[in-house]
Amino acid sequence: IIRVTNLAKSFGDNEVLSDINGEIYRGEVVCVIGPSGSGKSTLLRCINMLETPTSGTIVVDGHEMTDPDVDIDAARTRIGMVFQSFNLFSHLSVRENLTVAQRHVLRRSKAEANRVAEHTLERVGLSEKIDAAPSSLSGGQQQRVAIARALSMNPDVMLFDEPTSALDPELVGDVLKVMRSLADEGMTMVVVTHEMAFARDVADRVLFMADGVVVEEGPAAEVIGDPEQARTREFLHRVL
Ligand code: ATP
Ligand code: MG
Repeated sequence: IIRVTNLAKSFGDNEVLSDINGEIYRGEVVCVIGPSGSGKSTLLRCINMLETPTSGTIVVDGHEMTDPDVDIDAARTRIGMVFQSFNLFSHLSVRENLTVAQRHVLRRSKAEANRVAEHTLERVGLSEKIDAAPSSLSGGQQQRVAIARALSMNPDVMLFDEPTSALDPELVGDVLKVMRSLADEGMTMVVVTHEMAFARDVADRVLFMADGVVVEEGPAAEVIGDPEQARTREFLHRVL
């Protein structure tokens, strides 16, 4: 569902990604691990064109994101993105956070948008918070609302960039549980994470990135359990 070909990205003369190639298949959960600065966030941001690649192509669901003539806003609606910092609209209620893009981007009616909002909020276990203000919610609840907001657009793919790193430890579990249930329902997911237990249990495939390249990839049991590359072993020693 995502095909990345010869992707490279530089900021000035700092080459952050070089010659990344790969595919994410429908229904697959791929976890991306690697040291700080290795280019994980930049890769996700290139996939939905929050960053413009320096070269290479990205095709999502048959649509070439990197084609200058593509309607990028339309193409982006197929991709849900969840950030480390929840990025909710703080001046809007939870309901409005979940309906505004549905109304303005997908042109859904108010009733339809509300129906979808209620349904997605139920999926993340926060039905009772629909009229709350984001500031009245815990970090974990805000992140679950951010996940619900992305889901309310019916994306084909969900991208997560360290969704639990900004949370107090006791709130991490609830967010991971929601992500696990999404994975169980067959959602295609790319998850940048430092949660090795999550990667080991949930990922169909793990990519280890360092210095802008994919050093090693394969089933979690291999990449995390029995890595081939010295760099992967060294990284895992530090984080496990
Ligand atoms: P972390 O685990 O800390 O989130 P990361 O693997 O996500 O790291 P990136 O955020 O992708 O790493 O950054 C990779 C490199 O690109 C870093 O050297 C960073 O300084 C640089 N970089 C990222 N975004 C920009 C930008 N907008 N302008 C200039 N340099 C950038
Ligand atoms: Mg990052």
